[in-house]
Parts: sequence; C-alpha cells; structure tokens
Amino acid sequence: MTSQKRSALEMTNSSPTNALPIPQDTTSRPPLSGRQRGSLKTLLTRSSPFANETGSLPIGEFDTSNGGSQHATSTAKILVVGAGGLGCEILKDLAMSCVVRDIVVIDLDTIDVTNLNRQFLFRSKDVGHSKAEVAAKFINERCPWMNVEFYHGKIQDKDAEFYRQFKVVISGLDNVEARRWLNGMINNLVEFDEDGDPNPETIIPLVDGGTEGFSGQSRLILPRITSCFECSLDAFAPTAAVPLCTIAETPRIPEHCIAYAYVLQWAKEFPDRKLDTDSPADMKWVYEKALERANQFGIGGVTYMLTMGVVKNIIPAVASTNAIVSAVCVNEAMKVLSFCSQSLNTYMMYMGSEGIHSHTFVYEQKSTCPVCTTHVHRMALSPSTTLNALLQQLCEGEFRLKSPSVTSSSKTLYMRKPAALEKATKGNLDKPLNELINSGEELTITDPVFHDTSLQLIVTFE
Ligand SMILES: [Zn+2]
Repeated sequence: MTSQKRSALEMTNSSPTNALPIPQDTTSRPPLSGRQRGSLKTLLTRSSPFANETGSLPIGEFDTSNGGSQHATSTAKILVVGAGGLGCEILKDLAMSCVVRDIVVIDLDTIDVTNLNRQFLFRSKDVGHSKAEVAAKFINERCPWMNVEFYHGKIQDKDAEFYRQFKVVISGLDNVEARRWLNGMINNLVEFDEDGDPNPETIIPLVDGGTEGFSGQSRLILPRITSCFECSLDAFAPTAAVPLCTIAETPRIPEHCIAYAYVLQWAKEFPDRKLDTDSPADMKWVYEKALERANQFGIGGVTYMLTMGVVKNIIPAVASTNAIVSAVCVNEAMKVLSFCSQSLNTYMMYMGSEGIHSHTFVYEQKSTCPVCTTHVHRMALSPSTTLNALLQQLCEGEFRLKSPSVTSSSKTLYMRKPAALEKATKGNLDKPLNELINSGEELTITDPVFHDTSLQLIVTFE
C-alpha cells in the first residue's frame, strides 16, 4: 500500500474533527450534519461572496443570521403557472429542493394521452383529468412536506388580489397571449412612492420559461426594473397565415412546400377524403409530395418531423429541454427569494439542436414598452381616418392588440364592455377622427391582452 493510499484510508477512518477539509464555519452555530451539508441549508446558512446585493441586479440582501434566508424561502408562497411539460418539471424541482412548501399551480388543460411521455406526474388513468389537480395531488402524496394547491382554469379568472399573495411567479406557459397577460398583471401590481420609485415590497419577480423543440429560454423579469415580456414581443413572430399565392407560386421555405402538399395537392388528389393527420400513410404521402416540391424549387429542410409539425401545427416537445429550462427557472426563483447568489440578468438561451450551447444576455427594457414604461405614443393620421381604422392599426401594428377600447380625456369613444356601453359607443367606429377628437389630443387605449395596462396615444392630424 502506497503512502498516498494509506493516508486516504486513514482520513476516511479518522474522527470527524480532522476529516476531509470542509470549509470552516466561523460562526458559533453547531456543525452541520452530512445530510444537511448536502441540502440547500448549506447554501442558505453560510455567507457568500457572490450574494445578490453585490450583483448587477441587487434586489435584496442575503442574510444568514438565524437562518434568515432559509426562513424567507420556507415561508414564501410560489405560483406555478402551467402544469404541462415545464410545469411538471418545475413542481418536481421545487419539491425536491425544498425551496418552498406552499405552492399554487394553475392550468386550464386536461391530460391528453400524448402528454404521458414527458409530463411525468401523470399516468394513463389520469387522461381526461385536470392537469393542475393531478399534478398537485401527485406532489402532495409523494412529497408530504409540500402543500400544493391547484386551480383548474384560466389565469385571467384570477384578480390582482390573488397574484399579490405570491413571492415569486414561475411561468411555464406555451403561448404568447397568456404570457403577455400574466406579464401585464405582474407589472401592474407594482406600486410607486411619491418620488416615482417602485416600492420593492410590491415587486414580484416573474421567472418565465419557454421551450421549442431543442431550444429553450429562461428569463428573470423584475417588474418595472428589468425589461418585461412585452419589451421582447418582437422576438415572437406573430403567427401570420401564409398567403395562398405564396404557397402556390413562390415557396421560399420548407413550410411553404408542406402547406402546398397538404392544402392544395391533397384536395386535388383526394377530393372526397379529408387528410387524416393521425394516419402515418397519409402523413407520408404529404411528406413525399412536399419533398418533391422542395427539390423542384431548391429548398432544403423538408423532413417528416417538420411535416408533422406544420400539418398538426405542433412544436415537438423534448423532455430534456423542459428539464433544463425548468431547472434554471427554479434556481432563479430560489435566488430571488433568498438573495443567496446573483440573479440571472436577464435572459438565458439554451440551444440543443446543433451541439449544446447556452448563453445569457441582458435584454434591455424597451423605452416605448406599453407595459413597463409610461411612454406616450404618437401617431400622425389623416383627419378622415375612422376610429375603426385606428383600432385596426393598433391590432396589426407593433402593439399587436386584440380588442382595444379607447377613451379621450373628455369622453368614451369606444368600449367593448359592458354590452350597454358597447352599444352606445358603437356608432363612433365609422366616424372620422376629426369629428371625435382634436389634433394632439391624448387617448387612453385599454386591451384585455395585457390586463389593466393602458396605453397613452397622442393622435395628430396630418
Ligand atoms: Zn416592458
């Protein structure tokens, strides 16, 4: 036996006082047990040179005295939005790391058989049941230290009072509209003091995760401090329908070729039969036709997977991407709760389709963001523009509104709700703007797409 080996053996057999070098705890607290060393307690009860107050987003002070940070995490309540691919992972991560005990999970979906390959809190017997309910029940049974409540329904059903009870919100949503609404809600909860500074007590960090195939992202939104979801709306292309003429005559991307095969060629070849998207034979037919057309136009990238995606309008969900992105989300939640380490500033991208890459960058606040800034927007229009045309422009332009209502300083120009008000103001829609407002008048636009947020717009006549 060499001396090196012997000394290693001696070390393992020796008494704990001269065991493997463990960083010395300089305080007089009792030493941590091995079990505790392996837990979050280690992180939360020792001082850190990288604590949040020294970081680029100092939002709180790391306090190790009396288990301060640990206390902060154990009493906090977290909202998990979505109990699907990301949601299951987020709930599991929260339960296993004991970051918090009290969680509310909200989701309007029911379990589909195709979810079972990755949404691991669900079993075959759960198909057809509420995702939020089954997920909450599973975690509560398997991890008895957890208390997960659920709400089966839309996030829009809940009011500001509901959202205000949480210390952190983690969102694992798969659609842009819901994320816009949630972002609007959380930003609206921030209150300001006389100097116009946000009151830190009212800032609820929003951790937003998203995945698409082998790519994913996770970001930390500190409402009114960092950029918000709306600031980066441009990064999410609107789902514009491709004009049929492009599909038929000038395909440019593989998706156009696939659309050509299943929209036009299928109808021509099988006029009496609807395409069965669950039939491998039908899908193979579409794939082959799309490939043929792509070759004709020198377009690469048509695959069977992409064909499935385009035809069924689905983005393949990859379990490992969900696992990575949700782990990042839960890490960030833990950091903003305890301040034990520097938070993500502000965006993490994960790309796994060609090798594995990940990087972080600061997504800057958009100075004209309608949600997190008080910017007054300006528009120059012809005085004969109708109110309806203006509303149309707000929906199709950069704001991507859904159903705007508009008031001027003196009167209500058009309101969607309640029905009586809609009826009373409907007549204004066809009127030219110069009959309704003066040039340079400030209008207030509201839209359900971002909760209670209103947009200030000054219209001048050209
Ligand atoms: Zn913003």
